[in-house]
Amino acid sequence: MRESWLERFAESPDVLIDARRQRTIVPVADLAVGGDEFVTMAGPCSVESEHQLMAIAHRVRNAGARVLRGGAFKPRSSPYSFQGLGLEGLRLLAAAREETGLAIVTEVMSECDVPLVAEYADILQIGSRSMENYSLLETAARSGQPILLKRGMMATVADLLRSAQVIVSNGNPNVILCERGIRTFETAMRNTFDAAGIALLKQVTHLPVIADPSHAAGHRELVPALARIGIAAGADGLLVEVHPDPDNAWSDGEQSLDFERFAAMMAELKPWIELRGARPHEENLEQARSKDSQFAQAVL
Ligand code: PEP
Ligand code: MN
Repeated sequence: MRESWLERFAESPDVLIDARRQRTIVPVADLAVGGDEFVTMAGPCSVESEHQLMAIAHRVRNAGARVLRGGAFKPRSSPYSFQGLGLEGLRLLAAAREETGLAIVTEVMSECDVPLVAEYADILQIGSRSMENYSLLETAARSGQPILLKRGMMATVADLLRSAQVIVSNGNPNVILCERGIRTFETAMRNTFDAAGIALLKQVTHLPVIADPSHAAGHRELVPALARIGIAAGADGLLVEVHPDPDNAWSDGEQSLDFERFAAMMAELKPWIELRGARPHEENLEQARSKDSQFAQAVL
C-alpha cells in the first residue's frame, strides 16, 4: 500500500502491515483466528436461560460454528430493557463450553467487570459503544485474554485501528477486529455494512477481521447476503446471532437466525469460504451429531 495512504493510520503503527510483519493469528482455546480456518462465532444476543443456551450451543456447533457468543452484560439503548443475566450468564456460558467444547466470546462493558469476565470467557468482546473507552481497553488488554474489538457505530477505520493500538500497546497482541455496520443516512437497515472497510482493513492491518452481519443488517432476511459479502471482502470469520425462537428473543430477535436458517446459511457459505481461500470448518462432526440429536430430542 502507498506510503501516503498509510499515513492516515500513522497513530496505530503496531497494527499496520509492513514488509517485516506476518499476519497475526490469535490463539483461542484449541483454534486459531486469522489462520487457514474460517471461524464462525454464533449464539444468542443475550444469554437467557440454561435451556436456551444449551440448545443453541449444540445446534450452532453442529452447523459448523467454533465459538459460542452470548451476552451476559448487555449494552442496551433503553434503560428499561433487559440488561443481561450477569454472573449467572457467565456460568451458563462456561457450562455450555464444558458440554460442547465450543470456546466462549462475551462482552465486558465495565473495567471493574474485567477480572470476572476474563475468568469465564476465552475472548473478551468490546462492544461498539465501548470502542473508544480507552481505560476499558487498557484493563481488558492487561487481562491477557484475546480481545474481539467491535467497530464503533460512528467510528472510522482509523479510529478502530487507534483503539486496537491501545490494546497492543498494553501488551496484548491478540486483537480480532469486527465490522458490525456503521451509522449513515440510510435507515432501511439497522446499520450500513461497511464491506469496503473490511477490504481496507485486510490491506492495512495484520490483525484478523471478522464480519458481524447480524448487527449490520438488523433484519434476519439480510444476514446471509451480508455474510457472503463479508467473506468476499476478505473476512477471517463471522459473528452471527442465533436464537431458537427469534420472535420471542429477549434482545435483537429481529436480526437473529433460527436453527434452520443458520444451518442453511452455513451450508451455503462453504463455497464462498473456499473461494476466499480458507477452510470452512471441521467436517468430522458425525459423532457429535448423533450425540446432539439425542440431546436435541430431550430438550427441544
Ligand atoms: C452484540 O454483539 O450483541 C452487541 C451489542 O453488538 P454491538 O456492540 O456491535 O452493538
Ligand atoms: Mn445483539
